Amino acid sequence: MPGLEDLYREIILDHHRNPRNRGELPPPAPHATGHNPLCGDEIDVYLQVEGGAENGVVTDVRVGGQGCSISQSSASMMSQAIKGKSVAEVRALVRRFKGMMSIPDEDGNPIEPDPAVKLGDLEALQGVVKYPVRIKCAILGWNTLLEALEQA
Ligand code: ZN
Repeated sequence: MPGLEDLYREIILDHHRNPRNRGELPPPAPHATGHNPLCGDEIDVYLQVEGGAENGVVTDVRVGGQGCSISQSSASMMSQAIKGKSVAEVRALVRRFKGMMSIPDEDGNPIEPDPAVKLGDLEALQGVVKYPVRIKCAILGWNTLLEALEQA
């Protein structure tokens, strides 16, 4: 019987081989590009936000770029997780994911996991926290997402 680690590896590989929401959206779609020079990863995030940057809903998202399997599969899972969610829910999910990656909040305090925020497939990335160098790969798409939201 396959263990949890095998299952997680399968999910990551699946998103790497078949990235979800791959592509781009034409201007004026909010768009940001993120780089992780340590690994050579690059991520583009395009959003469609309806109803305003504060109270709106992410109705579409596209991801471009290239890099290692962690960076690309994390961005793919992210795109799947945020599509159709309100901006507030998306921000809560970013916070939850950063907490899983042991990244502190703006004040440098640990982020307590909010049980109301479901991670779904993203749980497959929790093992990354054991490899500090790879955390930058996993978080790249999320930081790029926040930058794209600033453009919305
Ligand atoms: Zn990487």
